[in-house]
Amino acid sequence: MTPLSFSSLPLSRAILDNLDNLGYQAMTPIQAQGLPLIVEGRDLIAQAKTGSGKTAAFGLGIVHSLNVALSATQALVLCPTRELAEQVANELRRLARALSNTKIITLCGGTPIRPQVESLKFGAHIIVATPGRLMDHIDRSTVDLSRIKTLVLDEADRMLDMGFYDDVNHIVSACPTQRQTLLFSATYADDIRKASARFLKKPAEVKVESVH
Ligand code: ADP
Ligand code: MG
Repeated sequence: MTPLSFSSLPLSRAILDNLDNLGYQAMTPIQAQGLPLIVEGRDLIAQAKTGSGKTAAFGLGIVHSLNVALSATQALVLCPTRELAEQVANELRRLARALSNTKIITLCGGTPIRPQVESLKFGAHIIVATPGRLMDHIDRSTVDLSRIKTLVLDEADRMLDMGFYDDVNHIVSACPTQRQTLLFSATYADDIRKASARFLKKPAEVKVESVH
């Protein structure tokens, strides 16, 4: 077993078999550094470039701790754009093949809200959203974030650059205080430090310079 093997982690047989099927043979550097902390339940700030496998890092953490027998929404991933949210949801669907009947829903702007409201009535284990549209759902009380165990701020630097701080702040306040928060960013500027201090508890920090 190499140090970069997924099987060095306390993941279920089903999750490991699914990774095999996906052709994920070894952890990328950000996964190797981040996943042990994530599956332990730590809050985490992870800084790594595009294409380094950040989605599977938090996605495996989510799939590992998800209880599909509960219909409640247990994980929320915030992304800056609809395109990124769709990509993340697709990767989560691939990772969630290890479980049965995981419901993953995307809540993004630029598309009618009514079908989203209808879809939410059937419950969603995982929500992937952009901040603006999720705010609309919170205002209409069409989402219930009270059972969130894992909150992910993906591409947090871009979300802040796009002016989403106040929305993110409001959304975080709608989540339980007892939760795991994971923040992913390509940079680590002052505004990211400030957001981390506000949204994360005693976070571990991992940083990967290059993709390989
Ligand atoms: P990032 O969010 O860091 O920009 P992604 O999470 O989108 O990167 O991952 C980039 C690509 O790498 C995706 O196509 C994903 O399926 C693939 N990938 C992620 N982890 C692994 C792995 N351990 N082995 C092989 N491919 C992987
Ligand atoms: Mg990404």
